[in-house]
Amino acid sequence: MDSGHSLVADLIEHNLHQWKESTVRRLFSEDQALHILNMPIPSVDTPDKIIWRADRSGSYSVRSGYRLLIGATEGISTSPASHYEDEIKSLYRSLWSLPLPQKIKIAFWRFTKNFIPTSVNLSNRRMNINTSCTLCNLEVESVEHLFLSCPFSHHVLAGLGVDLPLITADQNWLQWLASVFKKLSCYQRKLLIVSFWAIWFMQNKKKHEGTQESAWQTINFISTQMREFEAVAVRVDRRQKPLSRWMPPRSGTIKANFDASIDATRHSSVARIVIRNSEGLIMGACTFPFLHVSNVEMVEARACEKAVSLCKDLGFRNVVIEGDALTVINKINKIERDNSEIWALVANIHLLKRNFESITFNYVNRLGNNAAHILAKEGRLFSFPKIWIEDTPPKVEEVAQKDINQST
Ligand SMILES: [Zn+2]
Repeated sequence: MDSGHSLVADLIEHNLHQWKESTVRRLFSEDQALHILNMPIPSVDTPDKIIWRADRSGSYSVRSGYRLLIGATEGISTSPASHYEDEIKSLYRSLWSLPLPQKIKIAFWRFTKNFIPTSVNLSNRRMNINTSCTLCNLEVESVEHLFLSCPFSHHVLAGLGVDLPLITADQNWLQWLASVFKKLSCYQRKLLIVSFWAIWFMQNKKKHEGTQESAWQTINFISTQMREFEAVAVRVDRRQKPLSRWMPPRSGTIKANFDASIDATRHSSVARIVIRNSEGLIMGACTFPFLHVSNVEMVEARACEKAVSLCKDLGFRNVVIEGDALTVINKINKIERDNSEIWALVANIHLLKRNFESITFNYVNRLGNNAAHILAKEGRLFSFPKIWIEDTPPKVEEVAQKDINQST
């Protein structure tokens, strides 16, 4: 790097705990700058540490090291064809064992086999139709285009933090999918399957109904589906019902519900928080826009952090923080330290806990989080943080009243 910047620390405004945005933008390409600005900075100075990228937890394990090593040498030690055969076998083994609805797994299986009526497939069957992509109208609609190079799918996958490599010259579609699948964690595999299924669903919707959902609507749709599937998995795991409706906190305690949504096309997102007392009455509601954040988990963690700091600023001492972001809640409640991408935010949240007499973090499903969710529409109207203390939007009041009725 030139211009006197040689350390990452030189790119950080330490007093404000922010990136020096203009410097970052000047020194890096637009894509790289967005990636950098997307990284959270801890609000207290924390020592640097080394993170192991080959494992989702960020910590080194012999297993992940071995896998990385095998991955690196496999192409050399075995013939490419037989090595793909093994990967394809394990792709299907893994697909059928994943805890997802059967219809989605069957849809994904059809994608892998290219058994879907894309425009190209239809035209190959001598049907006289336009072969251009239903979603973007820019290129020929092959299975590879639809899921990999279509700008629509690209926006959706990027917004969800799914980073896919390009197909190499020696790979076909299935071989490429199998090699990608091998490198993903269980959660990432589910996310990829649900995303492809949703993209195909949107293609069908446009083709047959003529309506096109935006990339961010699709991202929200996928995130909601994933949460529901994860909640089912937790229910099966723990053999106990998670909270499926909003319940008031006990007397003397307030409850803050948080939620978040992403606008991938504008690289922006919004956090929403609704605070209620033990009688279910709204004590405050707010929306916070964030720029540059386009990863679902990161936005949810930021929304949770905002909920905690808002409760602190409003002077509440006994609080329950609740949201439908299962991964975030699990990470906060985990005792051991984590090295995942959102660790800086989780660490901040732990520091903020000192300001309270009691604070707990609860998972609730999407229905129980409706008051915060419904604020989405309001939040998108403002490009600045907006706080309602007395004049809460009527829609939110309505949901809060419903929550009270259902909890008694
Ligand atoms: Zn397209």
